[in-house]
Amino acid sequence: MAAQVHGFQTEVTKLLKLLANSLYSNKEIFLRELISNASDAVDKLRFLSIQDPELTKDDPLFRIRVKADEKAGTLTISDNGIGMTLEEANEHLGTIAKSGTEEFFQNLSKDQAKASQLIGQFGVGFYSAFIVADKVTVISRSAKAGPDEAVRWESDGSGTYTSETVTKEGRGTDVILTLKDTEKEFLSEWTLREVITKYSDHISTPVWLWEKETPADEKKDAEPVWHWVQVNDAKALWTLPPKDIKDEQYREFYKHISHDYSDPLCWAHNRVEGDLEYTSLLYVPKEAPWDLYSREREGGLKLYVQRVFIMDNADAFLPNYLRFVKGLVDTADLPLNVSREILQDSPVTRKLKKAVTKRALAMIGKLAGEKEKYAEFWAQFGRVMKEGPVEDYSNRDEVMKLLRFASTKSGTAAQDVSLEDYVKRCPEKQKNIYYLTAGSYEAAANSPYLERLKKKGVEVLLLSDRVDEWLMANVPEFEGKKFVSATASDLDLGELEDKDEKEKKDEAAKAHKGIVERLKKALGDKVSDVRVTDRLTDSPCCVVGNRDQMLTPQMRRMLEAAGQPVPEEKYALEINPEHPLIGRAAAETDDAKFGEWANFILSEALLADQGTLKDPSAFVKSLNALLLK
Ligand code: ADP
Repeated sequence: MAAQVHGFQTEVTKLLKLLANSLYSNKEIFLRELISNASDAVDKLRFLSIQDPELTKDDPLFRIRVKADEKAGTLTISDNGIGMTLEEANEHLGTIAKSGTEEFFQNLSKDQAKASQLIGQFGVGFYSAFIVADKVTVISRSAKAGPDEAVRWESDGSGTYTSETVTKEGRGTDVILTLKDTEKEFLSEWTLREVITKYSDHISTPVWLWEKETPADEKKDAEPVWHWVQVNDAKALWTLPPKDIKDEQYREFYKHISHDYSDPLCWAHNRVEGDLEYTSLLYVPKEAPWDLYSREREGGLKLYVQRVFIMDNADAFLPNYLRFVKGLVDTADLPLNVSREILQDSPVTRKLKKAVTKRALAMIGKLAGEKEKYAEFWAQFGRVMKEGPVEDYSNRDEVMKLLRFASTKSGTAAQDVSLEDYVKRCPEKQKNIYYLTAGSYEAAANSPYLERLKKKGVEVLLLSDRVDEWLMANVPEFEGKKFVSATASDLDLGELEDKDEKEKKDEAAKAHKGIVERLKKALGDKVSDVRVTDRLTDSPCCVVGNRDQMLTPQMRRMLEAAGQPVPEEKYALEINPEHPLIGRAAAETDDAKFGEWANFILSEALLADQGTLKDPSAFVKSLNALLLK
């Protein structure tokens, strides 16, 4: 049968185009990617052969081999792993199976530098071969197929590939790279040895390199002897005692399991014996993955049972809000033939989840002690962490302590105030934790609702992430202090308010009854109430939502954006009678003109609160009319 020509999936072609430019400075990673794939293929077969030992009977020793052929200018990476059939090769080496790939490429910006950074994060795997090769040939035979059912796949990376059925003696895969003229350094034993040890020392399959034996001095003219030399340790890193592992090894192992190109931010390696026996090696990436919020995203840890790889993306060991944590769990308490379904409702899984979650939180807690690093962490994963207190009730306090917020004390948008800080520095008689949610930090920081609280020196958390609203709606308190919104219609400062102030407030209400009544009459059912407030000091007015209506402006916007029906909301208008603008309005005796003032005041308050108005042009008109008077 002649070789058939196939086109790559569009995304693959795009990826291939970007690759050459973007990863060029880091081109040696192609070897890590190919050895990683080989090691995965070996792991998969090792797993299958537990059930079906026949599969590996005639070649029981797993290995990966790397061989350079200087004359031919080729570099070959071979494994005796699971291999591929023709159909599998067409599917796996012509498409990208990751969910959300199409979106990823659509969103990739035109900015080359940014695109290359993202490409690294996306994980390029097999296709990285084209960074250094003009032509890539894959000859593979599935462990389940006969010698005549092997496949030969070939491409120059320009948009198409060919594939055909061929014969191959043993199972597994040979990836043959015909190196570009400029990349011949990857034929040098020395370079290969260096790159392999750097990237693959910790993988559990032996990697052999085809090397020339240096002849002893007296045999200087003898023909060189070639032989296979094992170049990696082939000891699964996590099985070693932590004290014997160098930081550099932890970092490289992270890159191997995560396909990430950057170093991790931190890690935690724990071995636990006793009731529950497991080893966990967890990492926090430096950057949030591009699909952190995608519903289809496959997250989770690698699962090993007694050092045998069982599955990728085992998501049963961590709660959803810790979905950015990468790493592995190795346990002796699950059976080797455990399936995803069994995993989901096994009591051992539940115990492991509890234990691993504690480990992950402890790792993040430790990171919180390093201010700068934690700020980096928070910028990437803060919003996800805020899902924690609601999702993970049993660890609520623990997670709450890890949260950081912007506040009126720090005066910057940086989210760096912890709830513990807040509680520690607030006066004892303050019974609540005050917060304010708004669409942006600036809107929160400049909100008129803060005026009185600021004057009284009360710290207010300034919340502007989408998830904040939901967090506050679901978490009632922290260390005995209730969360209270600064926009609450009956904002109660409790003991922070002294008797004098209360009396003054009542007096003011009495003294300004006149204007309140006139405003009520003029605005009719546009408002639910009009009243005098003492929460404002610099602004003339504000609007306050009805406490029973749970929808805050941000929630309304979210509903609107989602195309949901949003009930019409009526606000109470609160005025600051000391403000000259209110004084000017009160001085207006003509009813029609006062009506204009009333509408203007309400619009102004709505605009300050929501950043938008239903009828902006009417507002501008009345503003102009008033200005020109
Ligand atoms: P990833 O490894 O992230 O899935 P790759 O592009 O590196 O992405 O590989 C795509 C797929 O091709 C793999 O998931 C695997 O199914 C198959 N593959 C690649 N290399 C090998 C190999 N050496 N042996 C068997 N299958 C392989």
